[in-house]
This record gives sequence, C-alpha cells and structure tokens, in this order.
Amino acid sequence: VRVHSKLSKSKSLSSLKVVVLDLDGVVYRGKTTLPGAPESIAWLRDQGLRVYFLTNNSTQTRASYVARLTSIGIPCCEEEVFSSAYACAIYFGKPKCRAKDGGLPRVLVIGEGGLAGELKRGGIHVVRPPARRDLVQPKVDYVVVGMDRKITYAKLYAAQQAIVYGARFVASNRDPVYPVEHGIIPGGGSIVAAIEAAGQQKPVLIGKPSPYILKLLLEQAGVAPEQALFVGDRLDTDIYCGKRTGTPTLLVLTGVTSRKEAEKAPERLRPDWIIDSIADLPKLLEKGRGRR
Ligand SMILES: [Mg+2]
Repeated sequence: VRVHSKLSKSKSLSSLKVVVLDLDGVVYRGKTTLPGAPESIAWLRDQGLRVYFLTNNSTQTRASYVARLTSIGIPCCEEEVFSSAYACAIYFGKPKCRAKDGGLPRVLVIGEGGLAGELKRGGIHVVRPPARRDLVQPKVDYVVVGMDRKITYAKLYAAQQAIVYGARFVASNRDPVYPVEHGIIPGGGSIVAAIEAAGQQKPVLIGKPSPYILKLLLEQAGVAPEQALFVGDRLDTDIYCGKRTGTPTLLVLTGVTSRKEAEKAPERLRPDWIIDSIADLPKLLEKGRGRR
C-alpha cells in the first residue's frame, strides 16, 4: 500500500517543529469529523510537535472553534487557532493601519459574528452598516468583508459608499464558494467580488492564498517557514499559500482535490507530499523524520 507520494525532491521534514492544519476537508468535512483526525493530532502533540489550525472561514470566533474541536476529541486553545477574522484583527492593529488621529481604525464590517467579534476583541472600532440606504452612511477608515449569510443591498451600498469616499478595502478571504454537505454555497469571495466591482478598488487579501496569514502564524509560533508543515485540501488556497511562504506542503484527499488534479497541477500549486487522509500523517512523518 502506498502511504504517500512525494512530489518534491528538495523538501525535508527533518527540522519540523510546527504542523499547520486547515480545518474543513482536513480535520472535518461539514459536520462530520474525518476518521483518524483526533488520533493523528494527539500523536503529533506526543511527538513534541506544536499544532495550529488555519482557516479562511471568518464566521466563527476562535473561542467557538476551540469549543467545536474540543467537543470532537481535539482539545486545543485559542492561541492555536488562526482564522482569517483573527488575522484581520491583527492586521488592523498594526501601526500602518492607524487612523489619521493616531488611534485604532474605524472599520465597517460586512460579515458575521466571528469577524466583528475578533475585531472588537482586538480593540478595533467596529462599525455596522446602516439597515437602509436613506440613513446617514458612516465615515470609516476601512471596509472589511467576509462571509455574510445576511448580505443585503443596503450593506453592499454602505460598503461601496465608504470605499468611494476614501476607505480602504480589506478581504478576509476570497473563497468564491463554500462546501457544505449537499454541495456548495456562495462564499465570502462572492461578496468581496460584488463590493470590488461596485467600489472599483482591489482589496488587500488577508486569508489564504495570501502569504500574510501564514506568515503571521509562523511569526507568533516563532519558527521559520521551513520548520513548519502546512496540511490542506485545496491547491489554490492552502498549497499555494504554503508555497508562497516557503513552507513545505502536504495535500490530503479528503477535501476538494483529487490525486490526479494534484499531480497534474502547475509547479506553483503542486504539493510536496500527498496522503489519502490525516490518518496517514503519523506514518509519513515517521518516515520523513526518522523514528524516535
Ligand atoms: Mg479546506
């Protein structure tokens, strides 16, 4: 039985310290925990490896990811969860994002509770879009956009007006669709695309495949890119993000990508290793790092 296929000759796992896991398609799929995920993650921790979870989904707070992961047998803490919403909060807290008066910026949020919640926790001044177009539109420094299952024309209008009158535009992610049990639904990227068209400004992208979010994670973990392994199920977000930061990449086939697609992918999207599922991760690492 072939446990894994290695597509790159240069990458090695000998200095591995941190394993970064995408969530949907890697640890669970919709509401279903993928077989072997809790056991593999426990094994990684037993080996002294640090584990982080990296997701583009901006609808939940880190606290709710911790609650969910812990409830399915993967105990973890907030410091180990990197969502695009949390990364946005860090971004807006940086000196270059300060408002003209030197304070933290005022940010119009088009998104769900996870995005607003993380920004508030980071001390960012969260502004909600007015419910109607005929109301006074707020003056803000930034517009940030993520998945919003209650998107309305009034929200698109508020975002567009803010951008037209000088606010800068930030996207938590650009994932056009989001996988659910019965198929796919419009994702945050579809809303970003609408606001980009209306506001005629390209957004700064925070989530995958932007290297920004993974660089933040590696910085907080205190490791170099080559000391981490990024495990994901998508070529154009997960694998591309890892490759742009110089982090070794591993594709699992429990999400949206087939082995054939991965092997045929252009170099910039081709993972260093492929395994069937996260259940095979211990076997791959024992091989790659030498048995302890
Ligand atoms: Mg995924």
